[in-house]
Amino acid sequence: CGVFGIYAPEEAVAKLTYFGLYALQHRGQESAGIATFAGKTVHCHKDMGLVSQVFQESKLNEMVGSLAVGHTRYSTTGSSHRVNAQPAVLPTRLGPLALAHNGNLVNTNQLREALAERGCEDFVTTTDSEMIAVAIANEVDRGKDWVEGTIAALTLCTGAYSLVVGTPEGIIGVRDPHGIRPLVIGILEEEIPRYVLASETCALDIIGATYVRTVEAGELVYITESGLVSHRLAESAERKLCVFEMIYFSRPDSVVNDESLYTYRMRIGKRLAKESAIDADLVMGVPDSGIPAAIGFSQASGIPYAEGLIKNRYVGRTFIQPTQHMREHGIRMKLNPLKDVLAGKRVIIVDDSIVRGTTSRKIVRALREAGATEVHMRISSPPVTHPCFYGIDTDNQDQLIAARLTVAEIAEQIEVDSLAYLSQEGMLLCTGEDVSHFCSACFNGKYPITVPDVVKRSKLM
Ligand code: 5GP
Ligand code: SF4
Ligand code: MG
Repeated sequence: CGVFGIYAPEEAVAKLTYFGLYALQHRGQESAGIATFAGKTVHCHKDMGLVSQVFQESKLNEMVGSLAVGHTRYSTTGSSHRVNAQPAVLPTRLGPLALAHNGNLVNTNQLREALAERGCEDFVTTTDSEMIAVAIANEVDRGKDWVEGTIAALTLCTGAYSLVVGTPEGIIGVRDPHGIRPLVIGILEEEIPRYVLASETCALDIIGATYVRTVEAGELVYITESGLVSHRLAESAERKLCVFEMIYFSRPDSVVNDESLYTYRMRIGKRLAKESAIDADLVMGVPDSGIPAAIGFSQASGIPYAEGLIKNRYVGRTFIQPTQHMREHGIRMKLNPLKDVLAGKRVIIVDDSIVRGTTSRKIVRALREAGATEVHMRISSPPVTHPCFYGIDTDNQDQLIAARLTVAEIAEQIEVDSLAYLSQEGMLLCTGEDVSHFCSACFNGKYPITVPDVVKRSKLM
């Protein structure tokens, strides 16, 4: 999911949030929503569909206020229904709150019980996100202020969360103790500088905000008329940013650790070329996610880079659509091979990841039909062997091709002449950061946040 928040009384906050969400559309294409606050009055509009389908200009003009919270959703828990769209808006003793959540809790059963014990049993939706909102509202109703109430509520929540919470006075930004999902702070340099919160820096760029820093793992910031105040959550833990954000999920123009992910992805492509060199006539990437690594691969190997597949940019990311049938259908609508580039050529094709293997096989077939004589696939991440419980929909373990098959068997299944993946070491060393500061559980099963057995059983084979 994508989350966004802005505190700027003199600006058109709904419109700025709309543009922020537009830049975060890749993080969720199922539903979109914005809530604006004018004092204790909330205007919330949310619905199924893309940001551009859910909002019209007239609607945004009606949504007045001094601050806003926005969300683009991609469902990892709770089914794909309109009621599950966010922000979740709830009344409290201190006025309404509006909550936007990116991530996934692993203790929803206990949380539901804890809330039931307090008399909170009527949930409108089926999401963990609504439960967080209910927990915060409950703490506030029992006498705490917004910051204390949020910190107290989050002691009940285990899992991954980057939240933006709107209140009548300001916006709260908070990341779980491990900081699994990203959240950044930006500033709009107007007459009075105003703060912005967003999942990724690309959402700051689109509204002309300057990147300041990330919200730290386990940090809560409250942004109001008096500026930004930082607090710590009760629990502290080692930083564990999701490495899949680096590899695939975040946009390449977003900045993590002071460089764009485009640069990181080029670097892992170079590393991949060294780890698994092979002779060929051209290197190409699977658009769009495989392209930066393919360029890096070409630069390091000296094999010319070419475009062999043209993507229809108006078809959404195939993996976000819920069914296998739709997924398989999606790929044909999406990528078209260039015969004149491919005919008679030995091709290296680079992609960011293989999850189920269905996309890859279709692409390989398409390249051969277009005349490629050899197809060598190189993947700029290690084999995905474990499901994610923290908010990326990498499916149940039995759907993951690398959980069932060896690399040689996968090569046979997807019909390539050779297949190689980037090493785990390569993936992590190329970040330039302390390698222990990342979650890479989908590549090695080492889950940084303990996943209860009942939850594990739902996705592991
Ligand atoms: P596959 O070969 O597994 O069907 O698809 C792999 C390609 O789709 C890669 O290009 C990757 O970018 C994208 N992809 C497909 N499914 C998922 C998924 O569930 N999660 C992520 N992160 N990427 C996916
Ligand atoms: Fe990211 Fe994988 Fe960890 Fe999930 S398991 S948070 S996708 S690195
Ligand atoms: Mg891709």
